[in-house]
Amino acid sequence: MPTETRTTCPYCGVGCGVIARVEDDGRVSVKGDPEHPANYGRLCSKGSALAETIDLDGRLLHPEIDGRRAGWDEALDLVATRFAGAIAEHGPDSVAFYVSGQLLTEDYYVANKLMKGFIGSANIDTNSRLCMSSSVAGHRRAFGADTVPGTYEDLELADLVILTGSNLAWCHPVIYQRLAAAKAARPGMKVVVIDPRRTMTSDIADLHLAIRPDGDVALFNGLLAHLAKSTAIDENYVTAHTAGFAEAFAAASTMTFPALMERTGLGASELRQFFGLFERTEKVVTCYSQGVNQSASGTDKVNAIINCHLATGRIGRPGMGPFSLTGQPNAMGGREVGGLANMLAAHMAIENAEDRDRVQRFWQSPTIAGRPGLKAVDMFQAVADGRIKALWIMATNPVVSMPDAGAVEAAIRACPFVVVSDMLATTDSARHAHVLLPSIGWGEKDGTVTNSERRISRQRPFLAAPGDARADWWQLAEVARRMGYSGFDYASPSDIFGEHARLSTFENDGSRDFDIGAHAAIGHAAYDALAPFQWPQPEGGRPATTRFFAKGGYYHADGKARFVPAVPAETDRTSAAYPFTLNTGRIRDQWHTMTRTGKSARLSAHIAEPFAEIHPRDAMDIGVANADLVEVESPLGTAIVRALVTDRQARGSIFVPMHWNDQFAAKARIDALVPPVTDRVSGQPASKNVAVTARPFAASTYGFAVSAQRPSAPEADYWAIARADGGWRIELAFGRAVEDWAAWCRSTFALSPDLEPLGYADRQTGDLRLAFFDGDRLLAALFLAREPVAVARNWAVSQLSAEHGDLRKRFTLVAGRPGADRPDPGATVCSCFSVGVNQIVAAVRGGCHTVADVGKQTNAGTNCGSCRAEIRGIIDGCLAAAAE
Ligand code: SF4
Repeated sequence: MPTETRTTCPYCGVGCGVIARVEDDGRVSVKGDPEHPANYGRLCSKGSALAETIDLDGRLLHPEIDGRRAGWDEALDLVATRFAGAIAEHGPDSVAFYVSGQLLTEDYYVANKLMKGFIGSANIDTNSRLCMSSSVAGHRRAFGADTVPGTYEDLELADLVILTGSNLAWCHPVIYQRLAAAKAARPGMKVVVIDPRRTMTSDIADLHLAIRPDGDVALFNGLLAHLAKSTAIDENYVTAHTAGFAEAFAAASTMTFPALMERTGLGASELRQFFGLFERTEKVVTCYSQGVNQSASGTDKVNAIINCHLATGRIGRPGMGPFSLTGQPNAMGGREVGGLANMLAAHMAIENAEDRDRVQRFWQSPTIAGRPGLKAVDMFQAVADGRIKALWIMATNPVVSMPDAGAVEAAIRACPFVVVSDMLATTDSARHAHVLLPSIGWGEKDGTVTNSERRISRQRPFLAAPGDARADWWQLAEVARRMGYSGFDYASPSDIFGEHARLSTFENDGSRDFDIGAHAAIGHAAYDALAPFQWPQPEGGRPATTRFFAKGGYYHADGKARFVPAVPAETDRTSAAYPFTLNTGRIRDQWHTMTRTGKSARLSAHIAEPFAEIHPRDAMDIGVANADLVEVESPLGTAIVRALVTDRQARGSIFVPMHWNDQFAAKARIDALVPPVTDRVSGQPASKNVAVTARPFAASTYGFAVSAQRPSAPEADYWAIARADGGWRIELAFGRAVEDWAAWCRSTFALSPDLEPLGYADRQTGDLRLAFFDGDRLLAALFLAREPVAVARNWAVSQLSAEHGDLRKRFTLVAGRPGADRPDPGATVCSCFSVGVNQIVAAVRGGCHTVADVGKQTNAGTNCGSCRAEIRGIIDGCLAAAAE
């Protein structure tokens, strides 16, 4: 009998409910859970493709020590011995854990307990530091606790939604879909997008403010100063529930209007329009994400936003409030257990002696960390300079994702003892581990995650753990026991969740926001059946509202919120040598370092190689045309990526996605270019304002290849590999031509040495095509040209699955052109139904002038909806071209 399991998507902080169905033959399919309050049945393209990412290809199935297979006992004994040895010789601060917002809350809880309560150091930090630690710091300064006041429903109830530093359409697609649907149903609702780029999110915006990088503090300070002169200030709220308005107002008022225009890069009418909208609209939600957080002034940005909501009393009521959108599936769960180096468990403060004493008594632990530990950037600096002797990395890939990633890689390589717990054997970080521990992954894991609106949901297993893979919490508890610590005898994740709930309510009495005491006595069956719920849920029943602060009740000692004077940051880091501002971020269909989404051919078809968005005039200035290769360089390193010339990009800025790494591209780890500059309060790296230079990459030969086998890293100056139906697709470029291309193919695509290709060469144009067959099956084909290769990619990929018994078909392939019966669909826009741009253009030319009509004709955009903004853009582009 097929089984259906309710679980939660493992990607972004929206936290969508998923129903996973396993057929009798083991096939898995997924659909959105119609009852889950985060998504009500919707999924984005990434969530829809989850079933394509759970194969065992590349999985780490057994513990390894120095590259050889080992048993769990041997591996765990070694980890415990080396960590205990380092602590005995050099003290507790000589060891560190670097963990992840991908961990489940139960994993996170045990890691934090082991490090802070038993080892006695706070050297546990997480990749969430790179994601939302500025929001945490801003919340704690303003509210006295790390509280997200609102809910997703507030975005639908608001009359004005401000999205600042958030490409919601691509990074939180289901929230975007909810917002777009609410705006369609209530066209009076206004949306303002504040972003240097005109992203897909801007397509539903009534106002797009193309702000200068890091101009946000100035903008929201300007807004506060404007509001103070209006009638929008809620004097009663400010007086009763806040402190520090005068100081914040004074700081906000220092900038003249012309200076504000200069700092933000916005025109007077744009600023007045924005200020007027905020002033006049009672129901305002301001959402912010990495564009706010990943900044040297990230915490001040958060507080500048919160200041405006506090001043108008627009917080904690339906349709109102500041709203931090978390990037990762369990960034919030990590915050709840104190997974950051400067936090204690259950939203208690490591700086507070009473809190430390309370947690230590609850854990009955021999010690408790007495001060904050090393934040991510400082932690890897300490690894580099030898202060950290033993490092345990769990469920994350810092060699790709940390700023100054090259230095981080060198630090890890030089560390005396590195443990990596991961699902995969060959991540860029895993290859430097002394001990590799196989972890279970999505579909096998059992635990909880918390989404951006404080909703705790279960991740339930529906697949058996492969090989020897085990849960991260189990690995940690086993090491703790081997180090001689008691308090880690958990039989199941429900034991851990119950303890977490009991700590949340221990000596709480409403003094702390995070309280899930209602689940303190949870047993295995109740945990298994646990429905998604929002905290707080204290013992004895639900509170009347899950929103915070409508009537004050802040967590500073006097119960009042704090206005924080926010200081505008340096916005321009460029120089004559590095004249562009690099902005890094995400794309629609990839997740983090592609270790999972990179397995899906459908997802990889959307954008198959790393790229740099650059404004047409900047491109012209540096001599780069669309689809050329471009070298982007900072003082720390160089990346080679494809140029995407677009006026969606602001002049002077270059956007490069953060996903690509050494497994998928020759030189595209963009975080290797990002300096380790951090926010002074939160320690979050500034990944969106990096001074770089850019120039054309001089290639004498460009190539495109398809291969049934994954090629080894090609001998080429530029390559980017992506999964494709039936095999792989590879973009290539060479500074110098290769002498024997057939031999190059045989070695790169692991072909038999005596296999001869079918070939075509044009000496005049330099075009060369080679195809290798095994019977009627295509093994590999290489297309070369002096310019970027113009062959239709999706058509070429489809040849891997086609039959080539007919010689004419083989010649069609080396001719590099689809036959008239197989029109080229073009680059994929709709991943769910594999609909290409050419098919959408054809539908528009055939009279489909709305997204719905295009959907009816082609199916595009009718499933997850993540591509609807792109379809709208294609329609607009076609109609504008037709009108010219
Ligand atoms: Fe997953 Fe997409 Fe939902 Fe995010 S929006 S949780 S990636 S399905």
